[in-house]
This record gives sequence, structure tokens and C-alpha cells, in this order.
Amino acid sequence: MSEGTIFTKSRCGRKGIDLPALDVPPVDPAAVFGAGSLRSAPAGLPEVSEAQAVRHFVNLSSKNYHVDKGMYPLGSCTMKYNPKMNEDLARLPGFTGLHPLAPEELCGGALQLMDELGRFLCEITGFEGISLQPAAGAHGELTGLLLIRNWHLERGDTARVEILMPDSAHGTNPASCTLAGFRTVNVKSNSRGEVDIDDLRAKAGPATAGLMLTNPNTLGIFESGIEEITRIVHDAGGLCYMDGANMNAMLGIARPGDMGFDVCHLNLHKTFSAPHGGGGPGSGPVACRDFLARYLPDPVVTRTGDGGPAMTRPERSFGRLLAFHGHFGVLVRAWAYIRTLGAAGLREASETALLNANYLKARLRDTYDVPYDDGPCMHEFVISGERQARAGVKTLDIAKRLLDYGFHAPTVYFPMIVHESMMIEPTETESLESLDAFVEAMLSIAREIDEKPHLVTDAPVNTPVLRLDEVRAVKELEIVEKWENS
Ligand SMILES: *Cc1c(COP(=O)(O)O)cnc(C)c1O
Repeated sequence: MSEGTIFTKSRCGRKGIDLPALDVPPVDPAAVFGAGSLRSAPAGLPEVSEAQAVRHFVNLSSKNYHVDKGMYPLGSCTMKYNPKMNEDLARLPGFTGLHPLAPEELCGGALQLMDELGRFLCEITGFEGISLQPAAGAHGELTGLLLIRNWHLERGDTARVEILMPDSAHGTNPASCTLAGFRTVNVKSNSRGEVDIDDLRAKAGPATAGLMLTNPNTLGIFESGIEEITRIVHDAGGLCYMDGANMNAMLGIARPGDMGFDVCHLNLHKTFSAPHGGGGPGSGPVACRDFLARYLPDPVVTRTGDGGPAMTRPERSFGRLLAFHGHFGVLVRAWAYIRTLGAAGLREASETALLNANYLKARLRDTYDVPYDDGPCMHEFVISGERQARAGVKTLDIAKRLLDYGFHAPTVYFPMIVHESMMIEPTETESLESLDAFVEAMLSIAREIDEKPHLVTDAPVNTPVLRLDEVRAVKELEIVEKWENS
């Protein structure tokens, strides 16, 4: 069905709004902006009625898949439902109207919120210092690594140029490492999918600046030897960084600070209520031990002598990381999420996320290969489509077929240490009924592969656009034409 674009719906003279007559003296735009910057012809904006505009965008929005529409089991991304109340709070005019250059004495409420959120996150992670400035997880990684770098440099230890990193690391980890001026040294995983401790011991040494580790790791497995791992790195003179993007697995259960880590980032837009995907604003606060807090980005929100929160510059700060003060709206949502759930509620969210993931894994185990399955998983798990690939149907086909069944696909082909991998994270959001519906879809697809594989290799057939050329879809983004042809 061709719906056209908002431009093809345009009819000359049709209007959706009535603007009041001008009640201020008219200005001459040419005098204000310069004649050269004025248009010579109208902008060609669509002329439609209000109803047409509203219908057009509502129809477009419902073509998109999102977590308000259905289950979104995208492993590593923690696509959970975000309470709408937190959206309302982030939109309070007192917050949205606050100018980023407003003087500190007029920002008491915002500073108090940042101070409280910082202290909640320190309590959750087991650390003492925090910066809310990083704009995303990867930005937090860079921040944390710069803390480690500056700590070594201040002590005159210039030979420490290596960061140890398991081969299952998230893709942003080695990239951040390079940006921070370090070299990545890969540490192998063992047959259980955990860090190979002997390999770690062999690679830790005088060149080790630190370790960067995701825990639970990207296989959804908690590193059972975590205290030994951090001890080995400390004994070699390095510091330990935890990629805490997967904190949704551990809220109120385990803390990076107690495991021997020195610094970690959190993804507020995964664990602490902010819609994400599609490049919306994120937030990747970095929490650290006392001795690293003096290097944090400028400014941090701290309590001053008279008890009120204020912005201060840490003693050896490496400067600003971002203009202004981080993505404040995301901080409001996180604060609201933590305050509404409370300590017990946060723990319950993680426990439910763990239960949901283990339930799915148990129900899929007979039909799909589960390569690292020595015990319970954490909030996510990785299955392999190798058995199905032998029948000629790839994991990509399964992912596309899931769209026909009304589910967003899991993360596919990551982590790379598993062939034909599918990384599934249901989060705490899903009810037993929706988990069961997802399982039924996965089992039904497996049956199709045995009986009528073309149903899977031709998928999707029920979506607004059919299978796209993955490479061309990125390089030649012709959204308008694709919509019109569908
Ligand atoms: C999402 C994620 C990141 C990166 O976070 P961004 O906000 O996308 O930069 C890093 N590590 C892990 C384990 C993640 O899941």
C-alpha cells in the first residue's frame, strides 16, 4: 500500500494551524540577517491539515518496532520498559527551562538531584567518587581509562601502556582503549566462557596499566574468579576497570567496588530508565575509588562545608569531557527510577531479569545449541544457530523470521567467540505469557527450518519493508522511496 510521504500529501493552501496576527512591530529580515542569507524561493514545506500531519506521524511511528510495542530481547542493550512517570518528571518545566549557563545559585534543585543520584550510584557500585558527565557508555569507558592513565602518569609510571581485555569484550572497549592512548592485550576465555586465569597471569606485568572487564561478561556469565582476577592485576601494579553496562544483572546483589574494581561506568540508558536506540541521548556515569576521584572531569557535584551541593573542580582533573553537565534529562529519569523502586525494588528488578533469562534458556536448550551452559546465566545468554546453519538457514534468517512473528530480533553474531550467535536478554519487563510467546516463536521457526526452510530464508514478509540489503541500507539511505514502494 502506498501511503506517500508528507510531501506528496501536500496541497497548495491547505493549513493545519492558525497563527495570530503579529502583535509586535515587524522587523526587516534583510536588515537583521543580511540580504545574502534570505531565501529566494519558499522552503517548499508540506501544506497539510492537522489531522493529516498527526495521522502521518502516528502511522510512521507504528511501523517502527519499539519496546512499547512488544518484546525487545536485544542482548547487551537492556531494552527494558521505562515508566512513563519518569518521562513526565524529566519534562518538568523547572528542569527543561533551566539554562545550562544559569548561575549555580539558581540551580539548587538540579544540583541536589545530581548530588543525590551520584550518591545512589556510588552506593549501588560500592565506590566513593563519581562523574555524571559522560554522555554514553563508551564515553564513560574513555573517562575511566583516562583516570587510570593519569594515576600512573602522576606517579611517574610511564611504562604502563597495556590494557588487558578478554576476547569476549564489548566492541567499544578496545576502541576506548585506543582513544585513551593504550594498547589492547587480549586475554583468552576458557571452556566455561570465563577469563582464562592462567592466560591473564601470563600477560599481566610491568607494562599493564589495567584490566578492562565486562561483568557479567558478554556471554551472560558472572566471572566466578573475579576476586582472583582483580588481585592478579593489582599485584602486577595495574588498576581494574569494570564495564558496568550490564549492571541490570546485579543491582543490590553484587557491587564492583566489593569485587576489587577501582572504577566502572554504568549505562543509565540501559539499567536506569531512559528509552534508547535510534541514537537518543544516553548517560554513562563513572564511579571510582577515592584515590581516583581527584582526576575526574571538571566539574563534579559535591557537598560543600555548609551542606549544600556545589560544582567543584577535582584537584587533578583532566578537564571537561563535554560541554555543560551531561544529559540532565537522563539523570532525572535515573533518579526517579531509583527513588520509586527503592533498594528492595532495584534488587527485585535484577532478580526478575535473571529469572526471565534462565527460564528462556531452559526452554530453548533442547532446540538450539547453548555453547556455554555450565550453570545458570545472568540477565542474558547466548545460543548458537549452528545446528540450523547445517540445515542451510543462517542466524540472520532466524532473526528476520522473528520479525514476522512480531518480535524484535535478539543481538546476532555477537559475541564473536560463538558461531551463529544469538544473544538474548528478556529483561525484567516481560511477563510469563510474553516469554512463552517468544519461546513458541523460536520453536516454530526451528520446525519451519526442518519442514519449509524457504519461509525462514525469505523472511520477513509481514513487515513494512521486506529484507533489505544490509550494506546498501546503511550506505544508501533512501527512506522515502522505500516507504513508497512498500
Ligand atoms: C552498550 C554497552 C556499551 C556501550 O554503551 P553506549 O552507551 O552504547 O556507548 C559498553 N559495554 C557494554 C557491555 C554494553 O552493553
